Amino acid sequence: MLTDTHCHVQLREYDRDRDEVLRRALESGVDTLICVGYDASSNQRAQRLTGDRVNGPGRPRLYATAGLHPHDAKDFSPAFLDGVRALAAAGRIVAVGECGLDFYRNLSTPEQQRLAFAAQIELAAELDLPLVVHDREAHESVAELLERHGARSGVMHCFSGDWEFARRCLDLGFYLSIAGPVTYRNAEALRDVAARAPADRLVVETDCPFLTPHPFRGKRNEPALVRLVAEEVARIRKEDPEAFAAQAAANARALFRLPD
Ligand SMILES: [Zn+2]
Repeated sequence: MLTDTHCHVQLREYDRDRDEVLRRALESGVDTLICVGYDASSNQRAQRLTGDRVNGPGRPRLYATAGLHPHDAKDFSPAFLDGVRALAAAGRIVAVGECGLDFYRNLSTPEQQRLAFAAQIELAAELDLPLVVHDREAHESVAELLERHGARSGVMHCFSGDWEFARRCLDLGFYLSIAGPVTYRNAEALRDVAARAPADRLVVETDCPFLTPHPFRGKRNEPALVRLVAEEVARIRKEDPEAFAAQAAANARALFRLPD
Protein backbone atom coordinates (compact mmCIF):
# COMPACT_ATOMS: atom_id res chain seq x y z
CA MET A 1 0.00 0.00 0.00
CA LEU A 2 1.08 3.58 -0.65
CA THR A 3 0.92 6.86 1.24
CA ASP A 4 0.48 10.23 -0.47
CA THR A 5 2.34 12.42 2.03
CA HIS A 6 1.21 15.75 0.54
CA CYS A 7 -2.13 16.31 -1.13
CA HIS A 8 -4.75 19.06 -1.19
CA VAL A 9 -7.96 17.08 -1.76
CA GLN A 10 -9.80 19.61 0.41
CA LEU A 11 -9.66 22.14 -2.45
CA ARG A 12 -12.70 23.22 -4.48
CA GLU A 13 -11.15 21.47 -7.50
CA TYR A 14 -12.46 18.23 -5.96
CA ASP A 15 -15.88 19.35 -4.76
CA ARG A 16 -17.54 17.86 -7.81
CA ASP A 17 -16.08 14.34 -7.57
CA ARG A 18 -14.17 14.03 -4.28
CA ASP A 19 -15.78 10.67 -3.41
CA GLU A 20 -14.61 9.18 -6.69
CA VAL A 21 -11.12 10.67 -6.28
CA LEU A 22 -10.82 9.04 -2.84
CA ARG A 23 -12.20 5.75 -4.14
CA ARG A 24 -9.71 5.75 -7.03
CA ALA A 25 -6.89 6.36 -4.54
CA LEU A 26 -7.82 3.26 -2.55
CA GLU A 27 -8.28 1.21 -5.74
CA SER A 28 -4.72 2.18 -6.71
CA GLY A 29 -3.44 0.99 -3.34
CA VAL A 30 -3.10 4.47 -1.86
CA ASP A 31 -4.58 3.83 1.57
CA THR A 32 -3.24 6.84 3.50
CA LEU A 33 -3.37 10.55 2.59
CA ILE A 34 -1.89 13.54 4.34
CA CYS A 35 -4.23 16.43 3.60
CA VAL A 36 -2.06 19.54 3.86
CA GLY A 37 -3.47 22.93 4.88
CA TYR A 38 -1.75 26.17 3.95
CA ASP A 39 -4.01 29.02 5.11
CA ALA A 40 -6.95 29.55 7.47
CA SER A 41 -9.59 28.32 5.05
CA SER A 42 -7.68 25.31 3.66
CA ASN A 43 -6.77 24.26 7.21
CA GLN A 44 -10.45 24.31 8.10
CA ARG A 45 -11.47 22.39 4.99
CA ALA A 46 -8.81 19.77 5.77
CA GLN A 47 -10.36 19.40 9.23
CA ARG A 48 -13.80 18.79 7.77
CA LEU A 49 -12.37 16.10 5.53
CA THR A 50 -10.63 14.13 8.24
CA GLY A 51 -13.60 13.52 10.53
CA ASP A 52 -14.93 10.04 11.32
CA ARG A 53 -17.53 10.19 8.58
CA VAL A 54 -14.82 10.31 5.95
CA ASN A 55 -12.43 7.84 7.57
CA GLY A 56 -14.85 4.92 7.31
CA PRO A 57 -14.34 1.52 5.68
CA GLY A 58 -13.70 1.60 1.94
CA ARG A 59 -11.97 4.96 2.22
CA PRO A 60 -8.31 5.86 2.44
CA ARG A 61 -7.27 7.13 5.87
CA LEU A 62 -6.95 10.92 5.86
CA TYR A 63 -4.84 12.97 8.25
CA ALA A 64 -4.69 16.75 8.33
CA THR A 65 -1.96 19.33 8.84
CA ALA A 66 -2.32 23.07 9.47
CA GLY A 67 -0.01 25.89 8.51
CA LEU A 68 0.54 29.10 6.59
CA HIS A 69 2.09 29.00 3.11
CA PRO A 70 4.86 31.50 2.27
CA HIS A 71 2.55 32.95 -0.41
CA ASP A 72 0.17 33.97 2.40
CA ALA A 73 2.80 34.97 4.96
CA LYS A 74 1.46 38.53 4.75
CA ASP A 75 -1.62 37.24 6.65
CA PHE A 76 0.46 35.91 9.53
CA SER A 77 -0.65 36.79 13.07
CA PRO A 78 -0.25 35.41 16.61
CA ALA A 79 -3.95 34.47 16.41
CA PHE A 80 -3.15 32.21 13.47
CA LEU A 81 -0.61 30.34 15.61
CA ASP A 82 -3.20 29.99 18.37
CA GLY A 83 -5.55 28.35 15.89
CA VAL A 84 -2.89 25.77 14.98
CA ARG A 85 -2.12 25.27 18.68
CA ALA A 86 -5.80 24.53 19.41
CA LEU A 87 -5.96 21.93 16.61
CA ALA A 88 -2.79 20.29 17.93
CA ALA A 89 -4.17 20.21 21.48
CA ALA A 90 -7.29 18.46 20.18
CA GLY A 91 -5.11 15.88 18.38
CA ARG A 92 -6.50 16.99 15.02
CA ILE A 93 -3.23 17.53 13.10
CA VAL A 94 -0.16 15.40 12.42
CA ALA A 95 2.18 18.25 11.39
CA VAL A 96 2.67 22.00 11.23
CA GLY A 97 2.71 23.35 7.67
CA GLU A 98 2.94 23.72 4.90
CA CYS A 99 5.20 26.62 5.66
CA GLY A 100 8.51 27.81 4.29
CA LEU A 101 9.96 30.21 1.77
CA ASP A 102 9.12 30.84 -1.88
CA PHE A 103 11.55 33.28 -3.46
CA TYR A 104 10.33 32.33 -6.94
CA ARG A 105 6.89 33.90 -6.78
CA ASN A 106 7.43 36.25 -3.81
CA LEU A 107 3.68 36.72 -3.23
CA SER A 108 4.62 37.92 0.27
CA THR A 109 7.82 39.87 0.89
CA PRO A 110 10.92 37.87 1.90
CA GLU A 111 10.73 39.49 5.35
CA GLN A 112 7.08 38.49 5.85
CA GLN A 113 7.97 34.98 4.71
CA ARG A 114 10.91 34.66 7.10
CA LEU A 115 8.83 35.86 10.04
CA ALA A 116 5.94 33.44 9.43
CA PHE A 117 8.29 30.53 8.75
CA ALA A 118 10.42 31.12 11.85
CA ALA A 119 7.30 31.30 14.03
CA GLN A 120 5.99 28.01 12.62
CA ILE A 121 9.36 26.27 13.09
CA GLU A 122 9.29 27.28 16.75
CA LEU A 123 5.63 26.28 17.08
CA ALA A 124 6.36 22.79 15.70
CA ALA A 125 9.16 22.38 18.25
CA GLU A 126 6.86 23.60 21.04
CA LEU A 127 4.09 21.17 19.99
CA ASP A 128 6.55 18.36 19.25
CA LEU A 129 5.12 17.94 15.74
CA PRO A 130 6.98 17.50 12.44
CA LEU A 131 7.14 20.35 9.91
CA VAL A 132 5.96 20.27 6.30
CA VAL A 133 8.38 22.59 4.50
CA HIS A 134 7.83 24.36 1.18
CA ASP A 135 11.09 25.54 -0.39
CA ARG A 136 11.20 27.14 -3.80
CA GLU A 137 14.45 28.80 -4.86
CA ALA A 138 15.25 29.45 -1.21
CA HIS A 139 17.41 26.45 -0.20
CA GLU A 140 20.06 28.40 1.69
CA SER A 141 17.62 30.55 3.68
CA VAL A 142 15.36 27.58 4.45
CA ALA A 143 18.24 25.56 5.88
CA GLU A 144 19.50 28.55 7.85
CA LEU A 145 16.11 29.23 9.45
CA LEU A 146 15.53 25.54 10.24
CA GLU A 147 18.91 25.44 11.99
CA ARG A 148 18.55 28.77 13.79
CA HIS A 149 15.00 28.21 15.09
CA GLY A 150 15.50 24.71 16.41
CA ALA A 151 13.70 22.52 13.86
CA ARG A 152 13.63 18.93 15.07
CA SER A 153 11.92 16.87 12.40
CA GLY A 154 9.83 17.13 9.29
CA VAL A 155 9.75 16.73 5.54
CA MET A 156 11.06 18.76 2.62
CA HIS A 157 7.94 18.66 0.48
CA CYS A 158 8.43 18.39 -3.31
CA PHE A 159 12.18 18.33 -2.81
CA SER A 160 13.87 20.42 -5.50
CA GLY A 161 17.51 20.78 -4.43
CA ASP A 162 20.65 18.91 -5.41
CA TRP A 163 22.40 16.14 -3.47
CA GLU A 164 24.49 18.59 -1.44
CA PHE A 165 21.35 20.34 -0.16
CA ALA A 166 19.67 16.95 0.38
CA ARG A 167 22.56 15.96 2.67
CA ARG A 168 22.07 19.12 4.69
CA CYS A 169 18.34 18.39 5.11
CA LEU A 170 19.05 14.77 6.06
CA ASP A 171 21.59 15.97 8.65
CA LEU A 172 18.83 18.16 10.12
CA GLY A 173 16.75 15.00 10.59
CA PHE A 174 14.39 15.70 7.71
CA TYR A 175 12.78 13.34 5.23
CA LEU A 176 12.87 14.07 1.49
CA SER A 177 9.56 13.92 -0.35
CA ILE A 178 9.64 13.21 -4.08
CA ALA A 179 6.79 14.50 -6.25
CA GLY A 180 5.69 14.32 -9.91
CA PRO A 181 8.62 16.33 -11.34
CA VAL A 182 10.82 13.22 -10.92
CA THR A 183 8.94 11.87 -13.97
CA TYR A 184 9.73 14.97 -16.08
CA ARG A 185 12.53 15.04 -18.60
CA ASN A 186 14.64 17.81 -17.01
CA ALA A 187 14.94 16.22 -13.59
CA GLU A 188 18.50 14.88 -13.53
CA ALA A 189 19.40 16.48 -10.19
CA LEU A 190 16.22 15.17 -8.58
CA ARG A 191 16.78 11.67 -9.98
CA ASP A 192 20.29 11.80 -8.53
CA VAL A 193 18.87 12.66 -5.09
CA ALA A 194 16.23 9.91 -5.39
CA ALA A 195 18.97 7.40 -6.25
CA ARG A 196 21.33 8.37 -3.41
CA ALA A 197 18.97 9.08 -0.49
CA PRO A 198 18.93 6.54 2.34
CA ALA A 199 15.99 4.13 1.98
CA ASP A 200 14.56 5.06 5.37
CA ARG A 201 14.34 8.81 4.63
CA LEU A 202 12.38 8.93 1.36
CA VAL A 203 8.63 9.51 0.98
CA VAL A 204 6.45 10.25 -2.05
CA GLU A 205 3.62 12.71 -2.71
CA THR A 206 1.40 14.17 -5.42
CA ASP A 207 0.96 17.79 -4.19
CA CYS A 208 -2.34 17.41 -6.06
CA PRO A 209 -4.04 19.17 -7.80
CA PHE A 210 -0.60 20.41 -8.93
CA LEU A 211 2.51 18.71 -10.38
CA THR A 212 0.74 15.92 -12.27
CA PRO A 213 3.22 13.17 -13.19
CA HIS A 214 4.00 12.16 -16.76
CA PRO A 215 2.08 11.06 -18.88
CA PHE A 216 -0.87 12.98 -17.39
CA ARG A 217 0.95 16.30 -17.09
CA GLY A 218 -1.41 19.20 -17.82
CA LYS A 219 -4.42 17.46 -16.25
CA ARG A 220 -5.60 17.79 -12.64
CA ASN A 221 -3.50 15.61 -10.34
CA GLU A 222 -4.97 13.23 -7.72
CA PRO A 223 -3.68 10.88 -4.99
CA ALA A 224 -4.06 7.71 -7.10
CA LEU A 225 -1.23 9.00 -9.30
CA VAL A 226 1.32 8.88 -6.47
CA ARG A 227 1.79 5.33 -7.69
CA LEU A 228 3.51 6.69 -10.83
CA VAL A 229 5.90 8.73 -8.67
CA ALA A 230 6.71 5.72 -6.49
CA GLU A 231 7.27 3.48 -9.52
CA GLU A 232 9.64 5.99 -11.06
CA VAL A 233 11.65 6.34 -7.84
CA ALA A 234 11.81 2.54 -7.48
CA ARG A 235 13.02 2.29 -11.09
CA ILE A 236 15.74 4.90 -10.45
CA ARG A 237 16.83 3.06 -7.29
CA LYS A 238 16.64 -0.34 -9.02
CA GLU A 239 14.30 -1.56 -6.29
CA ASP A 240 11.20 -3.71 -6.48
CA PRO A 241 8.21 -1.30 -6.76
CA GLU A 242 6.16 -3.06 -4.07
CA ALA A 243 9.10 -3.18 -1.66
CA PHE A 244 9.82 0.50 -2.26
CA ALA A 245 6.15 1.43 -1.71
CA ALA A 246 6.07 -0.50 1.57
CA GLN A 247 9.27 1.18 2.77
CA ALA A 248 8.01 4.65 1.78
CA ALA A 249 4.72 4.01 3.61
CA ALA A 250 6.62 2.89 6.72
CA ASN A 251 8.73 6.06 6.47
CA ALA A 252 5.56 8.17 6.29
CA ARG A 253 4.21 6.46 9.41
CA ALA A 254 7.45 7.22 11.26
CA LEU A 255 7.58 10.82 9.99
CA PHE A 256 3.99 11.71 10.96
CA ARG A 257 3.80 9.15 13.84
CA LEU A 258 0.73 7.50 12.36
CA PRO A 259 -0.83 4.40 13.92
CA ASP A 260 0.00 1.08 12.18
ZN1 LIG B 1 1.30 21.80 -1.18
